Amino acid sequence: MKTHARVVVIGGGVVGVSTLYHLAKKGWGEDVVLVEKAELTSGSTWHAAGLLPLFNMSYSVGQIHKYSVKFYQQLEAETGQDVGFKQVGNIRLAMNQDRMDEYYQYAATARTIGVKTQFLTPAEVKELWPLCNTEGLVGALFHPEDGYIQPADLTQALAKGARTAGAKIYRKTMVKAIEQTNSGEWLVQTNKGDITCEHIVSATGNYARQTGAMVGLEIPVLPVQHQFIVTEPHPDVISRHEQGLPEMGVLREPDGSWYLREENRGFILGPYEKGAPCCYVDGPDENAEYELFQEDIERLEPHIEAAINRVPAFADCGVKQVYNGAIAYTPDGSPIIGPAVGLENFWLNEGHSFGITAAGGAGWQLAEWIVEGEPTIDMLGVDPRRFGDYVSKDYLIKKNEETYANVFVIHYPDEERPAARPLKTAPCYERLMKLGAVFGQKFGWERANWFATDGMAQEDHWSFRRSRWFAAIEKEVRHVTRHVGLLDMTPFAKCRLSGPGAEAFLNHLVANRLPEKMGQIALCHALNTRGGVQSEFTILRESADNYYLVSAAAWQRLDHDCLSKRMPKDGSVQFEHLTDELGVFVVAGPRSRELLQRVSSVDFSNPGFRWLSAQTIKIMGISVNAMRVNYVGELGWELHHPIDRQNELFDVLFTASEELNLKPFGIRAMDSMRLEKSYRMVGTELSIEYSAYESGMDRFIYLDKGDFLGRTALLASKEQDKNNILVTLEVLDTDDADALGNNALTIDGELIGRATSGGFGFRVDKSLAMGMVNPRFAKVGTELEIEILGKNYKAIVIPESPFDPDNERLRDIYDANKYTMRQTGKDMKTRDKERSSPHFSPD
Ligand SMILES: Cc1cc2nc3c(=O)[nH]c(=O)nc-3n(C[C@H](O)[C@H](O)[C@H](O)COP(=O)(O)OP(=O)(O)OC[C@H]3O[C@@H](n4cnc5c(N)ncnc54)[C@H](O)[C@@H]3O)c2cc1C
Repeated sequence: MKTHARVVVIGGGVVGVSTLYHLAKKGWGEDVVLVEKAELTSGSTWHAAGLLPLFNMSYSVGQIHKYSVKFYQQLEAETGQDVGFKQVGNIRLAMNQDRMDEYYQYAATARTIGVKTQFLTPAEVKELWPLCNTEGLVGALFHPEDGYIQPADLTQALAKGARTAGAKIYRKTMVKAIEQTNSGEWLVQTNKGDITCEHIVSATGNYARQTGAMVGLEIPVLPVQHQFIVTEPHPDVISRHEQGLPEMGVLREPDGSWYLREENRGFILGPYEKGAPCCYVDGPDENAEYELFQEDIERLEPHIEAAINRVPAFADCGVKQVYNGAIAYTPDGSPIIGPAVGLENFWLNEGHSFGITAAGGAGWQLAEWIVEGEPTIDMLGVDPRRFGDYVSKDYLIKKNEETYANVFVIHYPDEERPAARPLKTAPCYERLMKLGAVFGQKFGWERANWFATDGMAQEDHWSFRRSRWFAAIEKEVRHVTRHVGLLDMTPFAKCRLSGPGAEAFLNHLVANRLPEKMGQIALCHALNTRGGVQSEFTILRESADNYYLVSAAAWQRLDHDCLSKRMPKDGSVQFEHLTDELGVFVVAGPRSRELLQRVSSVDFSNPGFRWLSAQTIKIMGISVNAMRVNYVGELGWELHHPIDRQNELFDVLFTASEELNLKPFGIRAMDSMRLEKSYRMVGTELSIEYSAYESGMDRFIYLDKGDFLGRTALLASKEQDKNNILVTLEVLDTDDADALGNNALTIDGELIGRATSGGFGFRVDKSLAMGMVNPRFAKVGTELEIEILGKNYKAIVIPESPFDPDNERLRDIYDANKYTMRQTGKDMKTRDKERSSPHFSPD
C-alpha cells in the first residue's frame, strides 16, 4: 500500500469511486487512492434500485443529475464494462393542478439547464404505459432520457476507469483515525498502515458521522430506512416482451408516494412512506457489510394499495423479495458536497439519498473543486456549509424523517416545514407572533415571512401562484412606503475583523473599495478566481483596524468559513463571530427618521446622518449601532443592538411611534421591494456561474485599486464579450402567478436566457422578474417571452430599479411635490393607474 498520496478518498460506494475516477481523469491519477473497509458497493450502493431521476427542484442538484445521466451513457464505451443503463424514460403522474404547477415550474428549470421534458395527457400515459389506470389523472411529466442502471456494475466501471488512469483502490482497508500533522498534511491511519496526504475526501455513506467525529466535525447526515418490493414476473409484462414491445418506463405517482419499474418481467415498487425511522442513530457497526433490516410491510400498505389502484396488475404479483436498507439523508434532502467547515483540504461527498443518480455529477464537481480550487457550477444548494451548528442529532432525527416522508410531496416554492421548530428565535419572536407573524425558517432561525392581520388565519398558504399572503404583503409594502415599518433581521450573519492586517486582507478579498473613513459603509463582494460572486458583505469601518461585516443569514457558515480560511495565518487579523450577540431591526419608510428622532438625540437629518454611514447611538440607554442602509429602497436604518436588550428596544420603538403608525413587515414584503429596486441576491442574480460584470455589479468593482481575488479574470472578461447580462423585466398580462425564478426566457421559441427571480412589485404595480439573457437581447425595450407555469407571457426589458431609479427616496432627497399624494381613501393600484406613471408615488 502507498504511504503517501495527494488525495485519499475514504469509502468505496458509488460516490467515493466516482470522486476517485474524476480526480484521476483530471490528471491526478497516479497520486490518488481510495480505501474501502470491506468490498466496493458493500454499503448502500449494492441494494439500490438504480433509478436515475432527473427531476429535482434544486438548481445545483439538477445540474449534477444531468451530468450523471449523460456521463453514465459514455462510461460503458470508455471502460468496456456494462453498466446496465436502460433509458426507458420516466413518467411522473399528476392527480391535481398544484402537482401540474410543480411540474411546470420544474420543466422550466429543466429547459434552462438542457434537460428534456415533455407533458403527457392521460391518453398518452396509457399509450406509453398500457397497464396504468389513468382515472383521476390531470396529466403527467415525461423525461425521455431518464431510466435506471445497475449500481454495482456502474461502480465497477468507475473503478476500472479510475484504475486505468493510475488510481489505486485498497479494499478491506478501514480508516481508524485521522490526524492533521504540523505541516498541515493529513495522516490517515488504517488497519493496513498509515497514508499521509494533502487532501481527504470523506464518502463514507452511512458512516459519515463517525468519519466526521475522527476530525471533530458534526456532519449533518443520518440515514433513514427505505424499502422496495421486488415481485415475481407478471403474465402481462411477459407477454409484452414476447411481442417485442418496449419495456415500460419508470412510473411515479407522487400523490401516492411511490415509484414502479419493470424488473425481470415483474416489478419493483418503492414507496416513500410516513413513519420510516432513522437508523444507525449511533452509527452502523464498524464491521457491517451488505446490511439490510427486517422488512416492515405494514408501513407500506397504503402505498401498495395506491399502486394497485393505479396499476391493477401489481395486485396479481407474488412478492419475491423486500429490501429494507439504510439511505443517507440530510435535513433538506440534498447531498453534502464540498469543503468541510473549519478544516483545510478536508472534503465531503456525503448525505446522498439519490446517490446512484448524483454520484457522477458529485464526483465531477468535487474533483473540479479540489484540483482547480473551485467548482464550475453553482453548488450553493449542496454546499456542506449551508447547515450550521444548530444541527444536533435530535434535530437530524426529526428533520431527516420529515424529509424522507416528504420526498414526493409537492415542493411549493414558499413551503416551510414544521419539524424541529422553533429552534432558534430572536427575543422579539413572541411579540411578532402576537402581531400576526407567520414564520419561516432560515439557517435554524425563525423569521417572520408575513403578517396575518384583520382576522386572517395566522397560517401559511403555499402555492406556485399568488396565494393568501399576497394581499397581506401588499398591505405591508404599502405601509412601509407610506409610513414606517420594522423588519426583524436578527439572523443576519455578523462578524468583526480586526487587527493591523484587517484592511489589507479585506482589500484583497473584495472587489469594491473599502470604506476609508470611520463610520462609512460599503457594499462589497468576494469573488472567486473566475470573477464570479461568492459572497456579499456590507462592510462598516468602525475604526482604523476594525471592520464590522454583515452578510446573508443563510450563508453565515459559508461566508465566515471563507473569511477564516483566507485570513493571514500570522495573527495580524482576528475574527469575532457576532451573529448570536447582536439583534438587527430594519426601520424603514418615510417616517422612520421622525420615529428615530423621537427616541434618540442624534441628528438623523441628511447632513447629520448620511446614506451609507453609521453611528453609535443611545436609545433609552441601549447602545445601538445605527447603519443607514436597507434593502427595500426607502429611507431607513438598520439598528444593530445587543440581543439581550432587544425587547426593550422593540417596546421603546413601538411606544414612541404613536400616530407614526409603526408596523412590522416580513421577509416576503422585503423581497418584493428589493425586486423593484433590482437589488441582487446571492444564489440567484449573484453566482459563481456569472462574472460580477455579467451580474451588472460594475459600480462595486474597482480594478484600479490594486490586486484582489478575481481581478485577473475580470480584466480579461472586460475585453471579451459577455455571455450574459442581467436585466430587469416587466411581465405583462399576468393575473394569478408571477415568475418564481428559473423560468425560461425565449424569443420566437428560442431560449435566450433564464429568470433568476421574480414576483410582484406593489409600489410599481407590475409583475417583475430579473434574469440573465444573451447580451443581444439585453437592450431596454426588447420584447421577449417568459414561461410561467407552462404559459408564455410577454415581457419587456425595462431600466433597472423600476421603483425610484434615482434612489431619491432612500437618500431622502426627493422633491416633496413629486410624492404629494396623501391617502385619498382610494385603492393604491387604482391611483397608480390613474396617474399612468411608471413609478408609484406614495403619499
Ligand atoms: C432500498 C434503497 C433503494 C435505493 N434506490 C436508489 C435509486 O433507485 N436511485 C438512487 O439514486 N439511489 C438509490 N438509493 C440510494 C443509494 O443507495 C445511495 O444514495 C448510494 O448508494 C450512496 O452511495 P455512497 O457511496 O455515498 O455510500 P455507500 O454505498 O454506503 O458507500 C460508503 C462506503 O464507505 C465505506 N466506509 C465507511 N467508513 C469507512 C472507513 N472508516 N474506512 C473505509 N471505508 C469506509 C463503507 O464500507 C461503504 O462501502 C437507494 C437506497 C436504498 C436504501
